[in-house]
Amino acid sequence: MPVNEWFLLITIGMLFLSLLYAAFVSFKENEFRAAKLFLFTLCDPLIAAAFIYFEYPYKTEIIWIILILYWALALLFLIPFGKKKSFENRIPKTRIDERDIMFSRAELVEGSPHFEAYYKRRPENKAKDDEFRSRPGLLSSKALFAHSFAFAAAEASFETIGALKNEVEGMPSASPSKGNAKEVTKYIKNWSKKLGATDCGITVLKDYHLYSVGGRGARYDKIYEKKHDFAIAFTVEMDHRMMQSAPKGSAIMESAQQYLESGRIAVQVAHFIRKMGYDARAHIDGNYEVVCPLVARDAGLGEIGRMGLLMTPKQGPRVRIAVVTTNMPLIADTAKQDAALIDFCVKCRKCADACPSQAISFADQKDIDGAKRWQINQEACYTYWTIIGTDCGRCVSVCPFSHPNNPMHNLVRSGIKNSALFRSLALELDDLFYKRKPDSKPLPEWMNVNVEH
Ligand code: SF4
Ligand code: SF4
Repeated sequence: MPVNEWFLLITIGMLFLSLLYAAFVSFKENEFRAAKLFLFTLCDPLIAAAFIYFEYPYKTEIIWIILILYWALALLFLIPFGKKKSFENRIPKTRIDERDIMFSRAELVEGSPHFEAYYKRRPENKAKDDEFRSRPGLLSSKALFAHSFAFAAAEASFETIGALKNEVEGMPSASPSKGNAKEVTKYIKNWSKKLGATDCGITVLKDYHLYSVGGRGARYDKIYEKKHDFAIAFTVEMDHRMMQSAPKGSAIMESAQQYLESGRIAVQVAHFIRKMGYDARAHIDGNYEVVCPLVARDAGLGEIGRMGLLMTPKQGPRVRIAVVTTNMPLIADTAKQDAALIDFCVKCRKCADACPSQAISFADQKDIDGAKRWQINQEACYTYWTIIGTDCGRCVSVCPFSHPNNPMHNLVRSGIKNSALFRSLALELDDLFYKRKPDSKPLPEWMNVNVEH
């Protein structure tokens, strides 16, 4: 057999096995449309094999052309191609007032001094907030996706997080240890992963990481000053299968569970640091003094995408974040801007297409508070939550970066990072294999219980 036929045989053999693997992985991921399409594409290497088997004029030349086409396609993944734009103005000039975020506004009790003071200061928000107050509410039995078991399970997680409230702060219990900053940093990063974190990064704490004024619980109206030097950010992964059914009850069950997991890790690490003789505060669900996505981005854990969430390299936005701030000397990470990810977000807009409340912008990044970024319509998003009873998560579940962390999707992720041409192709392929507006999957089978609405 001539050498070009051998090359083609090896190439299509590799392609055949890769497509078979992709079909198997998609089947395991509950993505039956993608699995069927991958099985269908097996025809391609089979047709190419026919070019080796049969005799016809110009066979040598045609086989070389087929080989070149295959390898040119493969190089799209591997060769850095296309200019990577760099995105400037990433540092906000003003700090966010926590009293303006929806969770704070949702806690305002009608007629209370905080309620009156808030709408006197922000009269433009009153009508929008009255709208969500007229809806059934988060975890309400009257909500559209009410599921008594899922909602009780989510509440159980939130209440367990509440039980950690008094553990977030405390006094150092010893005089400061003389550990080497490099070793302590390495120790904390490895230990947090052992505790269940997907990733851990460290940044120098900046003013803009902190809310300007507290907006929840006893911290309402408290003015925050920077008192720590470093922030340690942790991400934990949200289960892919649970999020595939977003915006149904599994989504809020999973996000509550992972708020708890990330919070538990932060509380443990804060306790550890205090035992080493330094001050530390854990920032966990309902108890943040910092804006977690900003801290996590500066700690090198990802970029902030179109939906305003942290987009991590291996799980995309399918993560929850917690933070520990401390005065313990640590070594900060160097956060590199992931321009390819932002460029993909500029092109993609899949979350904006899928958002049931049209809360996500289709436009390019805008200057907001001195930084170029996207901002969602938080009132539209939260009002939708109060109609359906869950925290939705549809944007998270449809994002092409949310696919599981495995060799098949990681190959696509590295192509996206390398090549602007491939970024456009990857988007088309994601739409083809998973649909532009992927269907929300049925709840996991084990969640099918007799639910009273
Ligand atoms: S769905 Fe697309 S546009 Fe939205 S965050 Fe993900 S990559 Fe960006
Ligand atoms: S959580 Fe749901 S409503 Fe909110 S932005 Fe995402 S898709 Fe839209």
